[in-house]
Amino acid sequence: MNQLLTAPAMGRHTDFLAACSARLADAILPLGRSARSIAILIPVALCGWTALPAYAAGGGESPSVYIEEMSSPELRDRIAAGATTILVPIGGTEQNGPHMVLGKHNVRVRALAGQIAQRLGNTVVAPVLAYVPEGSVHPPVAHMRFSGTISIPEATFESLLEATARSFKQHGFRDVVFLGDHGGYQKNEERVAVRLNREWSADPACRVHALLDYYRVTQTAYVADLKSRGFTEAEIGTHAGLADTALSMAIDKSLVRADALTSRTKSTERDGVYGDPRRATAELGQLGVKRIVDASVSDIRVFIRERDNRAQPTAQRK
Ligand SMILES: [Zn+2]
Repeated sequence: MNQLLTAPAMGRHTDFLAACSARLADAILPLGRSARSIAILIPVALCGWTALPAYAAGGGESPSVYIEEMSSPELRDRIAAGATTILVPIGGTEQNGPHMVLGKHNVRVRALAGQIAQRLGNTVVAPVLAYVPEGSVHPPVAHMRFSGTISIPEATFESLLEATARSFKQHGFRDVVFLGDHGGYQKNEERVAVRLNREWSADPACRVHALLDYYRVTQTAYVADLKSRGFTEAEIGTHAGLADTALSMAIDKSLVRADALTSRTKSTERDGVYGDPRRATAELGQLGVKRIVDASVSDIRVFIRERDNRAQPTAQRK
């Protein structure tokens, strides 16, 4: 029996590998049809294979937005061609009741950042930060009282964000955007953005933006959407309740244990659940996905415009 447990990975590669296999299979399958087609298809297959790292999971036509799936020269060329915005998805590893996995934030923020980047264009996505502040470890508070939650000091988290932004500025990105899926560290994102922008105020090359609306709409507009469909505030909840669980189901159903949702016993705060997830559905979660993606795309467009205006000499501003 394998008792070795490994810490959360910073990215998911299985979907990419599946896409690679599918693409290779697509290329090889027709080879049996005729000898003539082999001569034609081999170079095509080889071209497809070498082009793979630039393509998204699922084998679709649009290039991947995840930098982990690109080689360094591929990313360099993308930046040179105008992809100068990078999203830094921030997740967290924490308990989410008996019905939802510890990596909820990480899976969600990676997928949502991908959707936001695709909508914006000229935008790529950094690896997910899965280690975040969750409060005191000893004595344990809040989520730390439950197995699996990881908490790092706030100062460590801020230096991590800061060093990440400095790295991307160095590589030529002009807009570095923090988007955080968890409520507790929104203030840290903002603090780091203010600090770096102050330091770089004389250098218009790059700005850091804390995209607070990404999280805020899940507490406002999304909650209002659910209330307008008849759900109560107590059911919608604040953590691992209906809103949170539905949002996860909309991104990836495997994040949620379906049998736990059909349970007749309601989970309570003693189980780490604040709200009632039992009527959560992926369809309800789509309301949240739409709110997050729409608000994020429109905020980032404003960030870029404002940074562009600051970068231009006063006389050229419109
Ligand atoms: Zn959280």
